[in-house]
Amino acid sequence: MRALVVTGDWQPRPGYVPDEEEIADRRARNASQVWRHPQWATVTLPDPVLRSATDVLVRVRASGVAVSTLRMTATDDDGYVTLPYRMALPLVPGHEFAGEVIEVGSAVSDLRVGDAVAVETLRPCGRCPACRRGRVNACLDGQFAGFDIDGGLAEYAVVPSAHARSLEALRERFDDDAVFQVGALCEPAAIVYNGLFEVDRHLRPGMRVGILGCGPLGLAAVALARAAGAARVLAFDPVPDRAGLAELLGADRAWSERELEPTALPSVVRDETAGRGVDVVVGASGVPGEVLPVAQQLLAIGGHVVHLGVGGPPGSFRPMATMGRAVTHTFSMGHIGGFDPVIALHAAGRIDLTPMVGGRWALEEGLAAVEHATDKRVAKTLVVQT
Ligand SMILES: [Zn+2]
Repeated sequence: MRALVVTGDWQPRPGYVPDEEEIADRRARNASQVWRHPQWATVTLPDPVLRSATDVLVRVRASGVAVSTLRMTATDDDGYVTLPYRMALPLVPGHEFAGEVIEVGSAVSDLRVGDAVAVETLRPCGRCPACRRGRVNACLDGQFAGFDIDGGLAEYAVVPSAHARSLEALRERFDDDAVFQVGALCEPAAIVYNGLFEVDRHLRPGMRVGILGCGPLGLAAVALARAAGAARVLAFDPVPDRAGLAELLGADRAWSERELEPTALPSVVRDETAGRGVDVVVGASGVPGEVLPVAQQLLAIGGHVVHLGVGGPPGSFRPMATMGRAVTHTFSMGHIGGFDPVIALHAAGRIDLTPMVGGRWALEEGLAAVEHATDKRVAKTLVVQT
């Protein structure tokens, strides 16, 4: 099969000593400490085959190129990748994908050949303390397709059937291509769903919501907050195109740096909320360290901040700004559990995230797709197969 792969050199930084497991599997727990001189390539690999009776073989139809995918090959001055996360190379990246089932294992009863599925790429181990407490999104012992096992920027992928979520309910409302676009957007949207409704749980109908950052996470937050009955949804992103998308997806007002200096945001948000501030802030920026002080200035007393972004330099935290205003902070990551509600909301016509797709490329043009995904005006780039 044709596939995009990332290769690199295993060269632990001076002073970083990988443990035995990392060395044995060539799987860094923190890629930025080990992997150097990364490269993208389009290659031909052996067609994958089912490994167990509970696997399904998926022909990938749409696969997202995420910011964290780009970080697998973005490097610092010393040539090390910037991804501060697990990674094994060489590897087929792509942790946001959907496709058509073309073969099912003998023990698979809930999926059939021809079914459209979105793929949960996080594969919890089921044995670690996090898994045993039901906190599967915090499992660090399992695998993550696209980071330490092969992902979806390829023609085919083998997927455990429990992690292939049916998209068939979308067929009444979406055409064939759009079904798989929604499927590829389930991963980022499920992260937001889990953050808002499983981990934080403070957002209620009638609340005012502020969203910082209008990439895929922030845009999904706009749509989900609207679907959850938010009275007012206000969003900010430095880039005008993304602020425009936020309004398209349901924000009452969205500002970019063209209209508004970020320092003016707190006073404008107070004007928009009768002086109170917002009840919930969603931190969906790629630079979460910068979100914290801004979020604190936007919040109503007793408000809540849901942090979803990762990466960037650390920020400063002033405890009294939180305690004195009875503010809570929640930090959430992981997508397990969020796919089915995101699919159901699309099937019911309550949300439609497909407008955030800013470009579609064939697998053979994968390297151009990677380049396209670095354009800050674009919210989501997909690699697609018809
Ligand atoms: Zn686990």
